[in-house]
Amino acid sequence: MPLNFNRVEFIRSAASPRDFLRDGLPQLAFAGRSNVGKSSVINRVVSRKNFARVGASPGKTSQINYFLLDGRAYLVDLPGYGYAKVSKAERDRWGALMEAYFASGLITHGVMIVDARHKPTADDGTMAEWFFQTGCPLLVVANKLDKLKKSEVEPNLQTIRETLSLRSGDHLVPFSAEKGTGKEELLERLEAAIG
Ligand code: GDP
Repeated sequence: MPLNFNRVEFIRSAASPRDFLRDGLPQLAFAGRSNVGKSSVINRVVSRKNFARVGASPGKTSQINYFLLDGRAYLVDLPGYGYAKVSKAERDRWGALMEAYFASGLITHGVMIVDARHKPTADDGTMAEWFFQTGCPLLVVANKLDKLKKSEVEPNLQTIRETLSLRSGDHLVPFSAEKGTGKEELLERLEAAIG
């Protein structure tokens, strides 16, 4: 049966490993630098305006949010990274939570949002490495495509592929959360991941 991406409900936030969900359903973990548009991408996926909070105080949310997709899989919204103005305590909390989640074996598929305009940052590279270490397939979403000239698209995608050292089975989806470009491909890929 096709997955109904409009059937989505917020389940819980986890601020520590004891709150992780461990019920065996697939977990698609969404990660990205603060402000890259992760919330906007999630809202586009589930066709809601304000499901994941857009522009919610960057870096201030050291928690993992679980959304149940059509009763079949979790869309897991990981806290954003790379926001300069966070305290060391906050960064440490973020690191401990992420380390625990990545080591938990609960991730079945990684989804990383990057900015289509720029070469991925060192933090993006580290995040990709974390996903590689889980052994899960990784789907990279190059967001804000609407801000590129047509001639810039292919070279930028190539730079992203190379900088993140994407493996042959990893997919890169050009996307615009603002315009909806790439939505069909992203939904297809997510659905294939859930199986
Ligand atoms: P998050 O911090 O990664 O969750 O990012 P948000 O979803 O809050 O988006 C950050 C900012 O980028 C907001 O002002 C969004 O409107 C904007 N934004 C997100 N996606 C796109 C996109 O595809 N194109 C453009 N032009 N702006 C976007």
